[in-house]
Amino acid sequence: MSLKFTAVWLLLALLAAGCGTAKKAGEPASPDALAKFQELAAKYNSVVTIPTFETTPEEVQATVNKTIADGNAALDTIGKLKPAEVTFENTLRKLDDIAYASSTVSERLGLIEQTSTNAAVRDAATEAIKKLSDWSVGTDYRDDVYAAVKAYAATQPALKGEDKKLFDETLRDYRRAGLNLPKDQRDKVEQLRKEESAMETDFQNNVTKAEKTLKFTKAELEGVPDDFLNQQGIKTGDDEYSVKANITFHYIMIEDNAKREETRKRMLEAQYNLARAENIPLLQKILVHRDDIAHLLGYASYADYATEVRMVKNAATAINFLENLKKGLQPKFDAEMEEFRQMKVADTGDPNAKINIWDWRYYANQLKKTKYNVDAEQLRVYFPYQRVLNGMFAIYQRIFGLKFERVEAPYKWIGDLQLYTVSDAKTGEPMGLFYLDMFPREGKYNHFAQFGIIEGKLLPDGRYQRPVCSLVCNFPPPQPDKPSLLSHDEVETVFHEFGHAMHTILTRAKYSRFSGTSVPQDFVEAPSQMLENWAWDKTVLDSFAADYRDPNKKIPKDILDQLKASRLATMGMYYRRQLSFGLMDLALHTQIHETNADETLPLSNKVLSDVSLPVPSDSAFVAYFGHITEYGAGYYGYAWADAIAADMATVFENSPDGYFDKTAGMRMRNEIYAVGDSRDINVSIEKFLGRPRSLEPFLKKIGVTQPQ
Ligand SMILES: [Zn+2]
Repeated sequence: MSLKFTAVWLLLALLAAGCGTAKKAGEPASPDALAKFQELAAKYNSVVTIPTFETTPEEVQATVNKTIADGNAALDTIGKLKPAEVTFENTLRKLDDIAYASSTVSERLGLIEQTSTNAAVRDAATEAIKKLSDWSVGTDYRDDVYAAVKAYAATQPALKGEDKKLFDETLRDYRRAGLNLPKDQRDKVEQLRKEESAMETDFQNNVTKAEKTLKFTKAELEGVPDDFLNQQGIKTGDDEYSVKANITFHYIMIEDNAKREETRKRMLEAQYNLARAENIPLLQKILVHRDDIAHLLGYASYADYATEVRMVKNAATAINFLENLKKGLQPKFDAEMEEFRQMKVADTGDPNAKINIWDWRYYANQLKKTKYNVDAEQLRVYFPYQRVLNGMFAIYQRIFGLKFERVEAPYKWIGDLQLYTVSDAKTGEPMGLFYLDMFPREGKYNHFAQFGIIEGKLLPDGRYQRPVCSLVCNFPPPQPDKPSLLSHDEVETVFHEFGHAMHTILTRAKYSRFSGTSVPQDFVEAPSQMLENWAWDKTVLDSFAADYRDPNKKIPKDILDQLKASRLATMGMYYRRQLSFGLMDLALHTQIHETNADETLPLSNKVLSDVSLPVPSDSAFVAYFGHITEYGAGYYGYAWADAIAADMATVFENSPDGYFDKTAGMRMRNEIYAVGDSRDINVSIEKFLGRPRSLEPFLKKIGVTQPQ
């Protein structure tokens, strides 16, 4: 999807407002602070806009209708240009303006869809987003508009920098949509794209709807915590417990804890057959459609088509990258499996016991508990919500040279919503705004994510639109007797998500196509993955984390060390599993064609079994793996971005102040966040690193010691 509708996953948190002022952290500034912030922005020739949110289904529909009508009118204007009239401004820049207008609406509606307290408004937003997205695909096929763009290209303009990149990529988009092909083939691409997109929606719906309940006796569930078993809906009879293979935390509870192998096996087999009947035939069709589209456009495979616009550039590079990691991880993976096997031998008394795919979670969990003595829950007392937020804000303000200040939100979609201004600490220049919607409620998005609301862009009148975004999170709500206490995972998540907010807010790219987090899909997670390291650093944690009952008590070093050791202890399995998904995704998107579509299931099972642990022979994991259609030859990006993240982290690690280093932070702000995608991302990464990229830091981090 080229429009930025980035609910970049994961999320973040809030602020240590105006250090040095008398205000308590988190307390809003004076009532006119926001107005003053906007006035100040005007002095910097920029604009800070407070978003207006639709609050009824009628308003949502009216907005989307107006957006489409305005968009069509603007496209008509371009389409009517005579060849002698075309300029950069009235073609390419205008197209960026049009895309910006519709993506701003679709981002805002995306946030409303996930956060509105009114179900009818949420549903209206879902419909409106679909309508807008269909319209947006159709705009690619406006021959009159394309003719104007081609007429401009024919003038052979001498462009450079960001303008040149906009020119090249706009033409590339038209080519990738099939506009350069003879009419019949072009129409075919358009038809295939539309059919494929409808099938993708069906595939995802089948994943969402798939359900399977398994019934167990108490004895069969030996080892599974009573807290879980006694929950409403799970204990369904005197000696009957109903768990669902399609609910992730049910699945993990059983796989992590059930002592009996047969129980774990039944659960895994149930999950590995979800949506099978509907989705395997559908996936075959989707893959064939994608393959046909790629061939019509002149690519060897869909994976080559999809990766052309990403960092890896082609399927072979992505496959090599994963294959090399797979090889490098072999010794560690083997050693981990042998350790699990020895545990199973001790458990079962069978000297020939082997580790099956339904065993690894259980033994990984046992290993954590017995060898590393890790009880992640005991760390929560060190992470009261407000302390974590204040601490993280203090760090990000310091390293990125910023000042965050809480202001009163003129409109709140939920009572405890908070709004903050972000300015440059040195000059006071207003950079943008972020909202915090931090606790769960009925009907709300149930993960952690950063949502863009208004992206940065140079407006036609020459002023710069400063960005607005929101963190949407689900931290444990405070209790009468204790504050909201975060898990270590959630602390890591906050550091990650707030990183996306920085990426959005600190942008200075001229065109919306390149601003904020609109960077290649296989890079966008890297900066935030880098910032996850902060949550594992004792010095960082000691700057804010402390027992809420006695703030003098810091996290004991040995607990943190054990946590790190236990993470490393199963890194081989973790990554081989990730690689199995990535390689399966690339295999399907390079090897499945119309002539062998029925190989889809056998091929996916073969790759999974080769790279990770063998899957049951009669199973169909891929049918329930939503990422296969969603990312389309993009799953490799997780490991790819992880490698860049580890490399980037070394810049801080080798700086005098480590993760608190201002010089490294400002370089990050200027070379990565501010630039966005306005220049080749490879250049930006190397400018930040100050050297060519290296895979070494990543290999070291995941326990690969042998040179590759
Ligand atoms: Zn993310």
